[in-house]
Amino acid sequence: MLKYAVIDRGDTLSQSLAEQFHQLAAGYGFQREDEKPEIVISIGGDGTLLQAFHNYVHRVEEVAFVGIHTGHLGFYADWQANELSKLVELMAKEEPHLVHYPLAEIEVETPNEKLHYFALNDFTIKGVDGTLVVQVNVNNEPFEMFRGDGIVISTPSGSTAYNKSVGGAIVHPSIESLQIAEIASINNRVYRTLGSSFLLPQHHHCDIISKKEQRLQLVIDHVSIQRNDIRSIRCTVSSHKVNFARYRPLPFWNRVRDAFIDL
Ligand code: NAP
Repeated sequence: MLKYAVIDRGDTLSQSLAEQFHQLAAGYGFQREDEKPEIVISIGGDGTLLQAFHNYVHRVEEVAFVGIHTGHLGFYADWQANELSKLVELMAKEEPHLVHYPLAEIEVETPNEKLHYFALNDFTIKGVDGTLVVQVNVNNEPFEMFRGDGIVISTPSGSTAYNKSVGGAIVHPSIESLQIAEIASINNRVYRTLGSSFLLPQHHHCDIISKKEQRLQLVIDHVSIQRNDIRSIRCTVSSHKVNFARYRPLPFWNRVRDAFIDL
């Protein structure tokens, strides 16, 4: 018996689709299981799927996600509202094809603790009261001294989000990597940055080291926190991956084309 949970965006349409999903699922004998589901259905948009991911991040290896979009087609939310009954029927009849996407792992060091996060899309660091001033090391070697608005570190599947808006490249999720992209860097005699985004492979890491007393804003996907005691942040490609349950083929480049070219 398939054990599932539903996370909806909270608006009237998403809530009503969630209700319809429960009714259809009951007809096929699926079991509603909020604690330990096998499949998590996200209803809303890509942002809702980020929320669903963070709700179940502690069981990331045990669950698979399916996204239903209430508007246009999304990157994670790749079923549309009018396809609900077709989706439930396929879930009842077919074993899904599981695809696995890389995640970013972030370790934040303060004088008193180490905080640990996973990101499905990206991790962004900005200064709260002024420009961000940080040293970026790659594999323990100094790489650049960054001053500017911020840095976005994205996963391949997050490369179509904030990363794209700041000029980063779109990366296929089969390429296990992190992309480091600048937001409005200042380049002068003291601060000199690469000026383009770059990709780290799975066995490399980068450290972002705070170079002045500064209050920092960290955004992990949609979750924002502020702290003034951060010493350094280590970013790596996680050894864990997120699973998506596919009930029909959905090539990544078709989604890119449909989202950005064939409007
Ligand atoms: P939001 O600010 O309410 O919405 C951000 C937009 O990004 C939504 O339209 C969302 O799609 C879309 N999106 C989310 N993940 C995506 C992906 N992997 N590829 C393409 N588009 C994607 O915030 P949110 O919904 O909580 O999402 C958080 C994300 O917003 C962050 O991870 C970051 O990447 C992005 N962001 C982008 C900018 C920018 O581009 N200037 C600035 C800040 C944050 P839906 O409408 O389907 O939910």
